[in-house]
Amino acid sequence: MNHFDDDPLLHAGIDTLAVRAGQTRSAEGEHSEPIYTTSSYVFESAAAAAARFSGEDPGNVYSRYTNPTVRMFQDRIAALEGAEAAAATSSGMAAILAVCMTQLQSGDHVVCSRAVFGTTTALFNRYMKKFGVEVSFVTATDLAEWEGAIKPNTKLLFLETPSNPLCEVVDLRALSAIARAKGCLLVVDNCFCTPALQKPLELGADIVVHSATKYLDGQGRCVGGVVVGDKVYIDEVIVFLRTAGPTMSPFNAWVFLKGLETLRLRMDAHSSNALQLARWLQQQPQVEKVYYAGLPDHPGHELAAQQQRGFGGVLSFCVRGGREEAWKVIDATRIMSLTANLGDAKTTIVHPATTTHGRLSAEEKAQAGITENLIRVSVGLEDVADLQADLQRGLALL
Ligand SMILES: *Cc1c(COP(=O)(O)O)cnc(C)c1O
Repeated sequence: MNHFDDDPLLHAGIDTLAVRAGQTRSAEGEHSEPIYTTSSYVFESAAAAAARFSGEDPGNVYSRYTNPTVRMFQDRIAALEGAEAAAATSSGMAAILAVCMTQLQSGDHVVCSRAVFGTTTALFNRYMKKFGVEVSFVTATDLAEWEGAIKPNTKLLFLETPSNPLCEVVDLRALSAIARAKGCLLVVDNCFCTPALQKPLELGADIVVHSATKYLDGQGRCVGGVVVGDKVYIDEVIVFLRTAGPTMSPFNAWVFLKGLETLRLRMDAHSSNALQLARWLQQQPQVEKVYYAGLPDHPGHELAAQQQRGFGGVLSFCVRGGREEAWKVIDATRIMSLTANLGDAKTTIVHPATTTHGRLSAEEKAQAGITENLIRVSVGLEDVADLQADLQRGLALL
């Protein structure tokens, strides 16, 4: 269900929704979505102001509460995820924080996948614990471990699938059944797939969060996030955002709206390029192992083929050797960007063990499979032949 119950978009396909959902036009009749750069709104009379403030009239009051450009983005992403509602946030981390602040209280317990974004782990460990929320970390693909970790005070389960950087795939239908049986909420960070490739709510998740910074923009321009789900959850998130303030700016919402218009086209191109690069890497004698769920020998391949529309744009591989060899390959690239960011038209390359996962202890790295010879590539939209040549420069030195 979405917002558009009496709308021609009610049964529209994903491409139509990506281009059209959520758009409202002003009296000017603009074709493209405008940016409403205003902090507040004027009322026609004192009575109209009173009605706005009491909530009797749902119109705009102040841009920390609502903004027309931000609302268009929220309604579009909600339509794409097949959700009742969405709340846009200032960053992906603010989206995760908003879920925590609205769903958790002191004495609650969270079960979280070990293979989540490092800052998510830090949010739980450093801040949620400080406010009396207990957290247990589990191996994402081990359903028995999830089930075993759930306690009477467990309130929510949190994960990403596929995981970063090893592309492990978690069975969302099975995990949502466990969550439902135990009375916990299942929260999925859908950053790597986006709704173009995976719709966690259809697979039983209760809440989806995004770092819009990644594929939703897709061109590395803005930081933002969004929480998506049933209205009962989103209404609470909106109250939190109004009270605490980490809302999305209208300019960023406009960039993300434009990004969504090409989302499926980009995700299909990212997936196709990543698969070609993964297959090529598998054939290189200097490459020991390739992690990409699009490869038939990846343990998550069949599950990904069932629950995802495509395999996504992120892959990892191990070179023969250690840190020195991995750094050689990374340093020899001249097209790819050496940056920890991902989900961009520009291909990015990074050494997880010394950057994104650098804060983990040696033991935690070993447990997570973050070896010194591992390289992660977020495959962009360049010609695959040029990306192969870029990696070949370094591989040839080994
Ligand atoms: C980047 C990222 C985040 C955090 O998003 P920001 O927009 O940087 O705050 C959360 N989850 C995943 C999977 C990410 O890649």
